[in-house]
Amino acid sequence: MDPQFAAFWQTPLTYLKKVGPKRAEVLAQEAQLRTYLDLLHYLPYKYVDRRQVRLACELQPYETTTLIGTIQDYQVQRGKRRWLTATLRDETGLVELIWFQGIDYIQKRYLEGELVVVFGKAEPTRAGHFKILHPELEPLAEEQHAVLGAMQIVPFYSATEAMKRQGLDARSIRRLTHGLLEEAGQRFDEYLPPSLMAAHQLVPLAQAWRHVHFPPSWEARDVARARLKFEELFFFEMALAQRKSLLQPARHSPPFAQVGELFRRFYAEFLPFELTEAQKRVVREIRRDLGQATQMNRLVQGDVGSGKTMVAVLATLIAADNGWQTALLAPTEILAEQHFHSFYRLLSPLGVQVELLTGGRRKSERDKTLAAVASGHTHILIGTHALLEDAVQFRKLGLTIIDEQHKFGVLQRAKLWQKAPLRDNGTPLYPHNLVMTATPIPRTLAMTLYGDIDVSVIDELPPGRTPIRTVLRAEEQRPRVFGFIREQLEEGRQAYIVYPLVEETEKLDLLAVEKGYELIQRSFPERHIGIVHGKMKPDAKQYEMDRFKRGETHILVATTVIEVGVDVPNATVMVIENAERFGLSQLHQLRGRVGRGGGASFCILMAGVPLRKLGDTARKRLHAMCDTTDGFHIAEIDLELRGPGDFLGTRQSGLPEFQLADIIADAELLGQARQAAFDLIATDPRLDAPQHQALRREFRRRCAQWQLPDLVA
Ligand code: ADP
Ligand code: MG
Repeated sequence: MDPQFAAFWQTPLTYLKKVGPKRAEVLAQEAQLRTYLDLLHYLPYKYVDRRQVRLACELQPYETTTLIGTIQDYQVQRGKRRWLTATLRDETGLVELIWFQGIDYIQKRYLEGELVVVFGKAEPTRAGHFKILHPELEPLAEEQHAVLGAMQIVPFYSATEAMKRQGLDARSIRRLTHGLLEEAGQRFDEYLPPSLMAAHQLVPLAQAWRHVHFPPSWEARDVARARLKFEELFFFEMALAQRKSLLQPARHSPPFAQVGELFRRFYAEFLPFELTEAQKRVVREIRRDLGQATQMNRLVQGDVGSGKTMVAVLATLIAADNGWQTALLAPTEILAEQHFHSFYRLLSPLGVQVELLTGGRRKSERDKTLAAVASGHTHILIGTHALLEDAVQFRKLGLTIIDEQHKFGVLQRAKLWQKAPLRDNGTPLYPHNLVMTATPIPRTLAMTLYGDIDVSVIDELPPGRTPIRTVLRAEEQRPRVFGFIREQLEEGRQAYIVYPLVEETEKLDLLAVEKGYELIQRSFPERHIGIVHGKMKPDAKQYEMDRFKRGETHILVATTVIEVGVDVPNATVMVIENAERFGLSQLHQLRGRVGRGGGASFCILMAGVPLRKLGDTARKRLHAMCDTTDGFHIAEIDLELRGPGDFLGTRQSGLPEFQLADIIADAELLGQARQAAFDLIATDPRLDAPQHQALRREFRRRCAQWQLPDLVA
């Protein structure tokens, strides 16, 4: 806003007509409304269409409607409690009005014989009339402005009890807002560039605010809201665009200029399968980033089984070709070991040195590994957070790969980067960074959130996968489920049976796994059964995993330790016990453990309670699992069920609280706002241009409000 208008909008609410110190205090305390601007931003939570006025003789049962008539014949009735009745009469008939609250107030406020507008739901009475319980009344004569109530689309504002005690109910707030808009007049300084408004068909600021509070029509309200939503998203995306444009170039990394011998030979001679188109595209994107002298920060999203590992392998080869080391960080020991084996198997024929470092290794081995890494002999070091320890020193760390990002915080990533070499001028040369995740964040959301991270998507599964069939079963169907497992085992297949383990320390859950193990042993006496859970020593876990992998055990009873990445192609059945206790993305991850070979695969969700007793969201989760195997679709449903705050963890999400915009429902608008914001920041990163000064002020105000770092300052 223009500085002089800004002063107007910063006026404390006490200066507004009908707001004294008492009311101002309540508004501040109860709704954080302190200034004119705050009140302007206090939006209706609903609107009611009162344009259709009915006559008493036209009423339909249970219709919400508006009537105009005179109020007559107040009577206070006494039964168990007091209530108030009155009659509303128009030229065609009468309607009974009933209140259980505000009995004295109403009689004082609306005098008998007064012409009023009545609003409410008409219910038929036994006498053949209609009655309205707790109708809303407007004295018709008193209202100079039709906008304030009668015969308009009327805004409703939320008010707490404390506000109502000060007379600040929905109607009174409506009146204040109306007064404010009158006083404001044309004190709206359009800050969006005209070209932008034209391109996105946005209505002017003054109109948007007027119509969002007092819409002359539903269409007018919708375009007003669209403008306000657009700018919310636009300012947020500007902050992201700016962060990217102003901060990212500052981070120097070694450019991997050449695609060398290792990459070429591996690609030509050792690649075990042809890459999918999606894998090729992502590898190209990574190659392009790695060639730059600025840090790559790329998130690779790919559903379970989409082949992220191979993409990672190729990235490490580019690093090695240019003389740089790679650190690959996995969330669990099982996964680290598995990655180590894959990398080792694929790359040792080329002479690439791959090492493993986990907490569970012997000291002598560990020291040998550390020495090899420090000397630069090792090309690729794979491990768990053991990699973060100070003892781990690289000679030339040029690339970090983090598998399953959500298990690692930002701090841990920073810790890894501290191992980067320094440049001559003493500033660090950051390793390029690749993050791989199988819990896809819906595309739109990833776009919004990662203004400073590039996102690659592997949206294609390798050929020859048969889709996994998923069913929901209850306890009484267990014999049939076990019968089915028996058939699969007879065909030489293997099965997982997973129990929830929310926290690895929860004794009860551990008990459930152990009891489950016994049950399975009793039910499948002719079979070898394995068990893995978080309380086991790493060696023991590994031993059990290896046995299962070699087919020596047929059923693996496990907790969610097998959630990520474990790859046993011969396993075709995944039974998830107490499935209602798992989150949607976790269920999807678990299901991803099967369907990895050519054989038809099955996921059986066992409900721990009778199906009819399932909670609403649990039911939706389980049905979503049965309906689709598309990880992105699942992520979208998950986001819908949980909302972005919970989905991402509010803090971590970095999302401001939008007043109107909804990043899911308004995904399309978000895309447009993002494009517009990035385009604008590309031409004027600090908003220095004279024509952007109003925009700059509003942008800074929003950044402050959302507590986003203000890079303009
Ligand atoms: P994720 O993305 O879940 O990490 P992986 O990298 O473990 O998936 O790959 C899953 C399985 O698919 C592995 O057995 C891998 O060898 C195989 N795979 C990966 N890419 C291809 C491809 N292009 N063609 C055939 N099989 C592939
Ligand atoms: Mg993986």
